[in-house]
Amino acid sequence: MDRYAVIGNPIAHSKSPLIHGLFAQQTGEQLSYEALLAPLNDFTGTLRTFLQEGLGVNVTVPFKEQAWALADSRTPAAELAGAVNTLKRQADGRLLGDNTDGKGLVRDIEHNAGFTLAGKRILLLGAGGAARGVIQPLLAAGPAQLCVANRTVEKAEQLAMLFKDEGPISAAGFDWLEESVDLIINATSASLDGRLPAIEPTLIQPGHTWCYDMMYASEATVFNRWAAAQGAARCIDGLGMLVEQAAEAFALWRGVRPDTGPVLAVLRQGS
Ligand code: NDP
Repeated sequence: MDRYAVIGNPIAHSKSPLIHGLFAQQTGEQLSYEALLAPLNDFTGTLRTFLQEGLGVNVTVPFKEQAWALADSRTPAAELAGAVNTLKRQADGRLLGDNTDGKGLVRDIEHNAGFTLAGKRILLLGAGGAARGVIQPLLAAGPAQLCVANRTVEKAEQLAMLFKDEGPISAAGFDWLEESVDLIINATSASLDGRLPAIEPTLIQPGHTWCYDMMYASEATVFNRWAAAQGAARCIDGLGMLVEQAAEAFALWRGVRPDTGPVLAVLRQGS
């Protein structure tokens, strides 16, 4: 049986084994997929031991940057993201690193939710690893403007500088923002603590602005509850992104892209 795994710390909460198990069932691919807890100081050891037999891994918090450094080659998306969430052991033993988070986000927004990014004004809140991972695929979708806003404005400015050749990107502090936008993506970790990024409600044009929180939970996230109260046209959580990024990894490993709809439906039922 071909073996795959997700490596992280913590890892017990991971939905990836369930998602990849459902993908394998659906596509008839013969594989196993397990969750591996790596010690915080030995991601490399856990990875190397698994890859003596395993064909590929997903990598999650806090090891994505280490995975980037360990890859022998990287896709352009991973190169710019500075982080790798998918590793594939190639026939010659070399490790290919990809970052499928951004592709997963774009696919969820455009394909699952039916929102066209081309020509739109997008506000991306946050400038951590998750934000950096999605900027290139968002710009590749052709928005009119992508503004990265962060509590610590210098980090947003660094990202805008890093991606300036990829499309129309700008940086801002939360208190510089005034005009409403078409789509707000929350890539801060504020929701994890039940907090809101300090942005003005006027950024949401009632009945028009869509909001996307990369976090997901069984209940609506605090950000999406707030956005709905301001009249956002649609509020979406990050569960679809999780399933879509997994499908991209599965396609890289197996050469077949699963149908994500039924898998997302199972996860929604269970959450
Ligand atoms: P990081 O720790 O790298 O970055 C955290 C970011 O959040 C920083 O920009 C930080 O700002 C900002 N932040 C934290 N607290 C607050 C607050 N109270 N108000 C405003 N800004 C705040 O985290 P990640 O980028 O790795 O993750 C961010 C989120 O994305 C998490 O919720 C994670 O679960 C989610 N995610 C979802 C995925 C999915 O598949 N759905 C995939 C990857 C991530 P500052 O720089 O000022 O400290």
